[in-house]
Amino acid sequence: MSWLRDWLNRGRQDQTRNGTGPEAHSHQGEPETGEQYVHIRQAERRQLRRLLKRYDDLQYDLQRAHEALTNENQWTERIEQLNQAVEQALEDRTAVEPVKPELERPQLGPVPVQVTSLREAEPAEVTLHAGGIDITYREEIDWAERGHQVALPELRRVEGDVDPLLPQLPNEEIAQELREHLRHSLAIHANQVLEHAAEGTSTPELTLADMTTTCERCGGWLDQKGRCPHCAQLEWKRQEIDADLRRLRQERDEVIHDLERQRERLPIIQRQIFETEADIKKLRDKGVEPAE
Ligand SMILES: [Zn+2]
Repeated sequence: MSWLRDWLNRGRQDQTRNGTGPEAHSHQGEPETGEQYVHIRQAERRQLRRLLKRYDDLQYDLQRAHEALTNENQWTERIEQLNQAVEQALEDRTAVEPVKPELERPQLGPVPVQVTSLREAEPAEVTLHAGGIDITYREEIDWAERGHQVALPELRRVEGDVDPLLPQLPNEEIAQELREHLRHSLAIHANQVLEHAAEGTSTPELTLADMTTTCERCGGWLDQKGRCPHCAQLEWKRQEIDADLRRLRQERDEVIHDLERQRERLPIIQRQIFETEADIKKLRDKGVEPAE
């Protein structure tokens, strides 16, 4: 900007010489007075630019405040969307309550599950006997890991199956469900037998009835720790929906708050516009042009 200052100074000197500059009347011979004038003028131009910008911003705010006072606007539209989302989430939540199925899952009789053979040495092997059948589980050795294996071996079923234990069932779907449940429960039991042997403790006695207790809420079979996998999954879904509900309600509260704030601001914005207009007029009347 030094070229501008030089140019303005030159102009001032010319005016001073001609006796026409603003300082010519009262401040002849004081060069800094002319500079002060230029500074004030520049400050006023910048001020006018700021005021015009503020005026535009206030016009935008005014428009929003007016919109907020109408019956249907961007806030009421968003609140309506959020209300619908909340209703949907509440419906979804009801849908994930456990419902007892029409066909009951049967509990098997108190048939004891016995250990008929146990080998701890690699490959570890456990044979379980229940209801006249034998099922054998054997450790699967991962040869790549041999020598580094620290965790207890994982047993896999190698002989026998649970089918002879299944009672007459109303349909194949439930039969398959019970088949999988028993396979899983007996495999866990075989692994526990091995764990107890390694620790030198005795394995708790179990019967097929213990393995097929049903959930009071949904009627499904419980796992060996007495938990219902089906109800646990529903509970997890409900928690997810509850988190969504909290988020939706919070956003709705924020939008309502913003709407109220916009409405309350109208008289304030109007007063600010009035004041800004007056300030702009003052500078315009002095012939000030806004800074670039
Ligand atoms: Zn359940």
